[in-house]
Amino acid sequence: MHDRAPQPVDRHLPTDEARDLILLVRDIAQREIVPKAAEEEDAGRFPREIFALLSASGLLGLPYEAEHGGGDQPYEVYLQVLEELAAARLTVGLGVSVHTLASYALAAHGTKEQRVEHLPAMLGGGLLGAYCLSEPSSGSDAASLRTRAVRDGDDWVITGTKAWITHGGVADFYTVMARTGQEGPRGITAFLVPGDAEGLTAAAPEKKMGLKGSPTAQVHFDGVRVPDARRIGEPGQGFPIALSALDSGRLGIAACAIGVAQAALDEAARYATERRQFGRPIADFQGLRFMLADMATQIEAGRALYLAAARLRDAGRPFARQAAMAKLHCTDTAMRVTVDAVQILGGYGYTADFPAERYLREAKVLQIVEGTNQIQRMVIARHLVGAEER
Ligand SMILES: Cc1cc2nc3c(=O)[nH]c(=O)nc-3n(C[C@H](O)[C@H](O)[C@H](O)COP(=O)(O)OP(=O)(O)OC[C@H]3O[C@@H](n4cnc5c(N)ncnc54)[C@H](O)[C@@H]3O)c2cc1C
Repeated sequence: MHDRAPQPVDRHLPTDEARDLILLVRDIAQREIVPKAAEEEDAGRFPREIFALLSASGLLGLPYEAEHGGGDQPYEVYLQVLEELAAARLTVGLGVSVHTLASYALAAHGTKEQRVEHLPAMLGGGLLGAYCLSEPSSGSDAASLRTRAVRDGDDWVITGTKAWITHGGVADFYTVMARTGQEGPRGITAFLVPGDAEGLTAAAPEKKMGLKGSPTAQVHFDGVRVPDARRIGEPGQGFPIALSALDSGRLGIAACAIGVAQAALDEAARYATERRQFGRPIADFQGLRFMLADMATQIEAGRALYLAAARLRDAGRPFARQAAMAKLHCTDTAMRVTVDAVQILGGYGYTADFPAERYLREAKVLQIVEGTNQIQRMVIARHLVGAEER
């Protein structure tokens, strides 16, 4: 007898406010995001209106200070919001995570004047951000980037091409890492570039395996002029700023991965109770029951890992090692769980009539973005045995 529909994740949240926030997100997800997710992902349509709704609902600046339009929420809560959004549609969860990443440089390293001027619009004024580190010839080796910014009077003139930019072509602001000095990590500076800057253009979005609703595009900077007032941090400080943004961003990717994995598990469990073979629901077969139990256990372990890292961050403690571990473990978990979900649905799982195959395609990209899982292992190992010899 199988009478159990998938239940919402039972979250242990620190405040009543956080509980209300999760309920609000579930409501938006069920009413506005889930119904169109499959069709729009198939069509490669970016749901700009959902981001406007999230901004208006106070959900685009959750971990930042209320003084500048943020939600003043601990990372522990923000990440669980991301998980719920990603379970509804990865394009939305990952989009919020990237927007938060793009806002980080200014929020954490901007001057008081810069924060007062720009943050309210970024965090709750309907703007959407993009984070520009990768280039066609520098991915994992990000410090070898070539995009240049040259000082000209009170301005900087930026020239070069960024690659793989999430929200490329639809963003209202771009946080751009450009070379202003010597080769290597010490010659890089961060800038806040408006989306309508003259000379900034985006190529057609990449044709991807999954996450098709989220535009990923090259962004060209052809002599883009920005005032020095849009430089974030000191010249030469851009790379450490970019990396510290990624420490937090990786936690966002981990939470998104657990969201996708949870959605796949819910779908597999639901299907297993409905599909009958050999005269009974396939959920009766121990082979599948054990698969479901393993999937659920891996997901809970992943959730516990990203929350442990988030709580360190919230307490002001170092968390980079744990963030890399969470990104690694949660995205590998999402890959395994979504593969198993397709298996549990059998032939139907391999068709676009069910969401399991989409979850599988979405899980794959999470092992690549914001530092591949090989790079996460390098980060973790560095904390254990020091930097590699050159
Ligand atoms: C959908 C999508 C969205 C993205 N969004 C953004 C964005 O918004 N902003 C942004 O800046 N970037 C973005 N990226 C880029 C992403 O961060 C890079 O793809 C990633 O960092 C890997 O770089 P690469 O693709 O150049 O691969 P490479 O660095 O060329 O790596 C190729 C392979 O070599 C491995 N490898 C490289 N170096 C080592 C090493 N030292 N040891 C072991 N293995 C190694 C890698 O793990 C990988 O398996 C996005 C990418 C995708 C696919």
